[in-house]
Amino acid sequence: MVSDRFAPFGATIFTTITALAREHQAIDLGQGYPSWEGPDFVKQAAMNAIAVESNQYPPSMGIPVLQEAICDRFLQVSGLQIDPIVEVTVTSGCTEALAATFLGLVNPGDEVILFEPTYDAYPVGCAMAGATVRYVTLHGPDFRFDEAQLRAAFGSRTRLIVVNTPHNPTGRVFDAGEMALISELCREYDVVAVTDEVYEYITYGRDHIRMAALPGMWERTITLSSIGKTFSLTGWKTGWAIAPAHLTQPIRAAHQYLTFTTPNPMQYGSAAALRAPEAYFTELRAMYLSKRDLLVDGLRSVGFTAEAPEGAYYVLADHRPFGLGTDVEFVQHLITEIGVAAIPPSVFYHGSDEGTHLVRFAFCKDEGTLEQALERMSGL
Ligand code: PMP
Ligand code: GLN
Repeated sequence: MVSDRFAPFGATIFTTITALAREHQAIDLGQGYPSWEGPDFVKQAAMNAIAVESNQYPPSMGIPVLQEAICDRFLQVSGLQIDPIVEVTVTSGCTEALAATFLGLVNPGDEVILFEPTYDAYPVGCAMAGATVRYVTLHGPDFRFDEAQLRAAFGSRTRLIVVNTPHNPTGRVFDAGEMALISELCREYDVVAVTDEVYEYITYGRDHIRMAALPGMWERTITLSSIGKTFSLTGWKTGWAIAPAHLTQPIRAAHQYLTFTTPNPMQYGSAAALRAPEAYFTELRAMYLSKRDLLVDGLRSVGFTAEAPEGAYYVLADHRPFGLGTDVEFVQHLITEIGVAAIPPSVFYHGSDEGTHLVRFAFCKDEGTLEQALERMSGL
């Protein structure tokens, strides 16, 4: 029997859709993993580490070369000089960093504010910690939040707000006004901002604003990210939490018992990755921009209504022009009859049902795959 804590959540939608895609030999635009492998210089660094470095337990908080690479990169993008020893914790992906944050900082009965549609790990992490969640909806088609709803979500019991920008699944990149309002409320209510920045380098003509660098926010921000999306190595599960010492301490309290540490070779590889030349990040953005345009134009031409995302690598398209029912019904039809897999976004909504007319497509796929999927969908 599954415990009461996990039973309500069932299997993750990504596992379910990936299995269905395989069963029906559908082109998989569901789970967000690239259809190519990561850069050779990064893989080589991990292979060298297996050959010449220790293969025993690395330090629980991360190997110094990775902690330092994380600091140097963070200084470059945020202007903040941080301490690798007491302000950086290496984790097994952003997923573990999220779990360690919820478990380490939240007491049962505390409240956590989540924007919905919400990445699936947040509500489950809150449930593990015994938190009560308050949802604030990002309303389509532009996926902005309502200021009054956000203000109403803050209260004396609020401990954390999770800010995922660039946002999965809407592709929103929160603008300066939105970030300023969130930060103002965090300061007013003494709330910690947890930022999930795994898509930090995948933006399209928008600036990625870092909460930690906003006035008065360093002291109350936990910045989470990972290597998976930026370096097309989603299987490496190497991430980190950057936070002032007083917020790093509770994260570490949980991390040391969750996983204790993260595989050594991937830490060496990740350190090499973060020292990539600036051109790497520019090329990554350009590559995803052209894939985004290919998919958005193609979806429109086969009959969807779709807005181009500002960041990340997903498109939320409106499937109502096809009249095939809810998102779950639409995705079932898409996989079994058309041969294309996608994610039904209603699973990302908890306080409203605004996801049922949408479908999420991932475009971290080679052009041939995207074109073939569009070709199949012309039969919708
Ligand atoms: N946060 C968001 C918003 C994601 O889309 C994902 C999926 N990769 C994660 C966290 C998990 O990151 P990781 O694979 O590093 O655990
Ligand atoms: N982040 C990936 C997505 O949104 C899923 C990762 C996972 O399966 N946990 O597609």
